[in-house]
Amino acid sequence: MRGCGKTTVGKLLAANLGMDFADSDDIVALQAGMSIAELVKCHGWEAFREREAAVIGELASQDNTVIGTGGGVITREENIAALRKRGKIVWLEADIDILLARLGEHGDRPSLTGRPFAEDLRTVLTARYPIYLKTADFSVDTSDREPAAIAQLIAEFLKGSGSISAATLVCGVIGNPVAHSLSPTMHNRAYRALGLDYVYLAFTTADINRAVDGIRGLNIRGVSVTIPHKEAACQLVDELDQSARDCGAVNTIVNDRGMLRGYNSDGAAALRAIEETTPVKGKQAVLLGAGGAATAIAAALNGAGARLTILNRHPERAAALANRFNAATGGLDDITKISGADILINATPVGMWPETEASPVPAEALHRNLTVFDAVYNPRMTRLLCDAGAAGAKIVPGDKMLLYLAAAQFKLFTGREAPLEVMAAALNEALGGEDHA
Ligand code: NAP
Repeated sequence: MRGCGKTTVGKLLAANLGMDFADSDDIVALQAGMSIAELVKCHGWEAFREREAAVIGELASQDNTVIGTGGGVITREENIAALRKRGKIVWLEADIDILLARLGEHGDRPSLTGRPFAEDLRTVLTARYPIYLKTADFSVDTSDREPAAIAQLIAEFLKGSGSISAATLVCGVIGNPVAHSLSPTMHNRAYRALGLDYVYLAFTTADINRAVDGIRGLNIRGVSVTIPHKEAACQLVDELDQSARDCGAVNTIVNDRGMLRGYNSDGAAALRAIEETTPVKGKQAVLLGAGGAATAIAAALNGAGARLTILNRHPERAAALANRFNAATGGLDDITKISGADILINATPVGMWPETEASPVPAEALHRNLTVFDAVYNPRMTRLLCDAGAAGAKIVPGDKMLLYLAAAQFKLFTGREAPLEVMAAALNEALGGEDHA
């Protein structure tokens, strides 16, 4: 983006790596025999983009070259493909106000949107932000870094030594089993996209007490907590967030200089996934299951104003949970309760790989007025969701919940908004392949 320091940083980086530096804008201007501003004024933005694409295609085929490009280069897929073929794409990020301060009031480019300069820059940056996030192999926040330090960071990333260092913050998932967890893929991809010096690992954990001691002893920044440790973790942290107190379980521990705080993002993540399709306030929701996920989801739905019915294989567990949320209750076979419902949620493992033909309720119980959310995400399209779709119901797959709870954890660990599209792409890729038991 204009003002990000690409030329200064690019030249320093090239010197650091012993490479050449080329600025695509300079070459376009040279070839056109006029400045970029004049080119755009005389022939329009499209003509500039055409010339830019030709220059990028040529530069990207060269070895040992650091290429500085304008921020709009990523608006064309052909440019991204060309740059990716043999290279890495680095995004020099900066807060919009800092860009404006660097560029002065007016900048040197014609407006893309026809609006005044500051507004133009803000509009363009906002629109492009998701593309930068998605496209960058590495990003550096240049707001408060010197060009030499930025070049050094990029050089380390390119040499492969920047990914893990003595300063790298460690996060992970503790549970048993976690060998097939999709969380490392999502979190690590997100760290890389934002250029954060973090790593996320999977720790198979038999003994939660010793694992939590390990978090303190090794100064691990934070962990996701999964089956079977979510309830026990409540007793081991120093403080419980309201989200964890509401459901008596912890799915996230954050370590702030030795002080461990437990959170639970399960319920909010499920609610967010469901509410993308159907707002729950005042709706009749039937929840299947009374375990950890069901408890978190019941607390979130109750908080959001849904009217709950909880059905469980062991009805006494459903009754105990229903008692806390003033909900109706019954056994898992009490499917007449579904006929008048607006929302049906499966929070049992029924239908999960490898029992993919199983469903917690018979297809006849489903109807077109339902929104059906299945917490099971492996497979993504469970038997229950297939039956629901066939009955004309709206469906919400469980990977949405997984994505949103991971995004909430990412924010707790790093303090940064999660790059949702990057994490979703990582999850999709992971789920698109083999099944994950
Ligand atoms: P949990 O605490 O062990 O609870 C399991 C619940 O399912 C209990 O209510 C249990 O009933 C019921 N159940 C188990 N096997 C059953 C069967 N064969 N038939 C009928 N009911 C059965 O487990 P959880 O942590 O709540 O997890 C439940 C599901 O949610 C799992 O599939 C998990 O992968 C999924 N989940 C998904 C996400 C996500 O991000 N999408 C997040 C968390 C959990 P009883 O009480 O009668 O034993």
